[in-house]
Parts: sequence; structure tokens; C-alpha cells
Amino acid sequence: MSFTYRMLINGEWVGSGVTKAVLNPYNQEVIGDLPIASEAQVDQAIAAADRSREVMAELPAHQRAAILEQTAVLIARRREEMVLEIIREAGKARKWATVEVNRALENLKFAAEEAKRIHGETVPMDASVGSENRIGFWIRVPAGVVAAISPFNFPLNLVVHKVAPAIAAGNPVVLKPASNTPGAAQLLGECLLKAGLPSSALNIVYGGGSTVGEMLVKDERVAKVTFTGSPPVGRRIKALSGLKKVTLELGSNSGTIVDAGADLDLAVSRCTMGSFAYSGQVCIAVQRIYLDEKIADEFETKFLEATGKLVVGNPIDADTDVGPMISAAEAERVETWVKEALSQGARLLTGGQRDGNIMQPTVLTDVLPEMAVMCQEVFAPVVSLVRYKSFDEALRMLDDSVFGLQAGIFTRDIHKAFEAVKRINVGGVMINDVPTFRVDHMPYGGNKESGIGREGPRFAIEEMTNLKMVCINL
Ligand code: NAP
Repeated sequence: MSFTYRMLINGEWVGSGVTKAVLNPYNQEVIGDLPIASEAQVDQAIAAADRSREVMAELPAHQRAAILEQTAVLIARRREEMVLEIIREAGKARKWATVEVNRALENLKFAAEEAKRIHGETVPMDASVGSENRIGFWIRVPAGVVAAISPFNFPLNLVVHKVAPAIAAGNPVVLKPASNTPGAAQLLGECLLKAGLPSSALNIVYGGGSTVGEMLVKDERVAKVTFTGSPPVGRRIKALSGLKKVTLELGSNSGTIVDAGADLDLAVSRCTMGSFAYSGQVCIAVQRIYLDEKIADEFETKFLEATGKLVVGNPIDADTDVGPMISAAEAERVETWVKEALSQGARLLTGGQRDGNIMQPTVLTDVLPEMAVMCQEVFAPVVSLVRYKSFDEALRMLDDSVFGLQAGIFTRDIHKAFEAVKRINVGGVMINDVPTFRVDHMPYGGNKESGIGREGPRFAIEEMTNLKMVCINL
């Protein structure tokens, strides 16, 4: 079954003279031909968004909320179609593709609710000598055209994380989804228009990041760039975006500590999910597990047992836990990293083999901090176990990273939990859970190489609005 890809420009679904095949990463079948936007089409998309700024800014909050709520209803009706599109474009196992669609529905509702809560505050003007007879307050106003650039790994929910708050805040959008997983964004666009979004307020363009993406980032009509993707691209986008507001949601090499006395069964089951769900291609996947040496043997045995039970294979099957990686190049890269670690003294506890685009769930130990599998973002089903003697040492090792997205701590000791909260430089600390835990309304984002700004509808809305101060001289 093929998919007809169309861009959405100025309210029309259009193709283009140049196309690129979208492939199923599991079996290499061609899903459809993706139209690649010409420079003129990107310009038309930005112009259409720019023209609809006023219409969007004047839509009352209840109407913006209703559009987002209705979009959730329409997506729920097309749930299976969405799930299938994610499975075949992203190679995401059915169970995780279903979770993604369900999260996207909830996320749209969170954004709808937030649309009704965008407000300012009064300022006590009489605190300043000479301003006793003034009244002051600030309001939040839409920032303007939002350029949204999204990655391949959550082709629906990470698009919702950008488009829904933009609409909730009264902004028009130009969206460029990842070139290998554009289908869910297109289906979302269809639902948003059907739900009543003014037709030129959402524009979707396809094409390469370094061409179409960079045109969006540089264009002066764009007020706000919201990007999720890899750190090098994030750096480039920040450098190119001039004075625009920029949110960057980037990668990580997230770590988890398992303290002696923690609930080991919980830690094992959460670490198994966190390390291998969607073949580890999750920005908050568990990449480094630090184990108190007192429980390390027991954890290792149970973790390897749980890893051995994972079903690896066709993502369309309901039982599959681990499907393919997004491309042959990515699977080959990670295989090389594992071989390199082994040649530098790491020990393979399980996995290590690659079959086409499928990398077996892989567990390493005896790793060194400078190995690529430890210090870079592995973004694959590969996790390393490291033993520690003291909790202090574990915190230092966990925090010794250029990244800082989320961290997990399994402990029953509240003092250790708070010590971790205080000392680890990350955007989120999950106590008795893996860094992979996220619900969509919490503030989410990273420090250091993991980015700037926060998502989650309330926080994204803050970043997609400007404060406007009003002073009345009585
Ligand atoms: P990527 O290669 O950085 O691409 C992300 C998006 O940026 C794609 O739409 C891509 O277009 C576009 N792009 C590439 N180069 C660009 C440029 N020079 N200017 C503008 N846009 C450009 O990332 P990915 O491989 O899709 O996703 C994996 C990365 O995303 C990982 O590092 C992961 O940790 C991160 N991520 C972070 C979060 C978070 O919330 N912190 C969530 C998910 C993923 P093309 O597809 O056409 O190349």
C-alpha cells in the first residue's frame, strides 16, 4: 500500500517537480515519492504563514482550543492509519507506535487546555517612586510565524509538541518534518484543517535539512524556530537563526544509577524498556547504567534474562519489542562503535550482531568513559553496565557528560535521591525510574549539548509568545 505524499502550502495540497523515495527501513519497500519543495515553494509557504498571522492572533482562545480538541477526535478515528504509517516509515514496533499515537492525542488535549490559560500578571507600579498613579500589567501575545523542524524518531508526537502549542498560542506554522518519516505529519495536517484551522495557518514543506530546513531558519519572516534533532544540527540552526527565538531539543547519552537496596525488579524492567524500546532511538534512551557493586551481579543476571526475552523482528507484529534502525548507515555506525569498544577492552554480555538494519539488543561492560558507546550519543539498542563503590562516585560518573537531558536514580534513600537532584546537571531527574520517562505536559528539555528551552505545551507556549507590557498613567 503506497502513500501519496503532498505538501501543504497556502491551504493547498501540492506536489513538486522533484521527488525522493521514502523507504520502509524494515524491508526497504518504497512507501511513496516525497515531493521536495523548490525555493519558490518554501517562499510561498512562509508567505502564506506570514499572511495568516493576524487571523491566528485574532482567533479566540476557545476556538483555538476547540480546533485542537477536535483534531484529537479526528486522529482517534484514524488511529490505525497513523500507527501503520509510523510502523512502516520509522520501523517502530507496533506497541510503541500505538503508544506514540495515544500520547499525541493526549498532548493535543493538553495544548487545547493551555490555550485557555495564556495570561499575564499585574505589576505593582507604585513600588517605584513617582509611579504611584500608574497601573501596569503584562500580557502574552503570539510571537509570529513558527518554523518547526522535527526528527524521524517520533514522527507524530514530536510534531504535535511543536504545532499544537504554536496554534494554542495563536501562531501560524511552517513545518518541515524529517525526510524519512513525513507521513504522520501529513495526516496530522489533514486532521487540523478538517478540525477548522484557518487553511494557510499550517504549511508543511518537505525536503533536505540543509536546503529547505536552512531556508526556514534564515528567513526574516520567521519569528521563532523550534527544532528537535541532533546536537550538530542544533548548533548550526542557532548560528543561522539570527535574532529569532530558538528552542533546541537535542540528544543525550542518558544515565541511570541503581543503588543497593533499590527495587531491583522495577529497575530491571524499566531499564530494559528504557534501553531497547524503539531500538534505543530515543533521545532519553538509557545508555549508561551505574550499578552499586553490592547488587551488580544480581542486576546483571536479571537484566540479561529480561533482554534475552525481547522479541526482535518485524515491527508490524504485535509481539515485537525491537525492530530495525532507521537506516543501514545508522545500523552500520553502531555496529562499528560496538566493535571499536570491544577492541578497546569492553566485554560483550549479549548482542553485538547486526542483521541488515536490525541491531540485536546489546549489553556491554568493562567500558571506559572515553569510548564512543559511553561518551557520544549511541542512539541504538546498546547499553553499558558500570559498577561503582560509592554513590558519590556514581553521581560524578553520571554527570560527567557533555549532554544533560534527563537522568534516572533507583533508590529507597531520600537523601541520595535529593543529592542526585542537586548535583546532576540535567533538565529532569527521575527518581525510581529511567531517564526515558516522560509525560507530555511536563517541562521537558536539556542543558549543555542537550539543548535550550523546554517543551510540553505550557512551556512551549511560553517560548512561542512574547510578553507585552501595558502601563496606564491615571
Ligand atoms: P537530525 O539529523 O538532526 O534531523 C532532525 C531534523 O532536522 C530533520 O527534519 C532534518 O531534515 C533537519 N535538518 C538536518 N540538517 C538541517 C539543517 N542544517 N538545518 C535545518 N534542518 C536540518 O536528527 P534525526 O536523526 O532526525 O533525529 C535524531 C536526533 O534527534 C538525536 O540526536 C536525538 O537525540 C534527537 N532528539 C531529541 C529529542 C528531544 O526532545 N531532546 C527528541 C527526539 C530526538 P532531514 O530529515 O531532511 O535530514
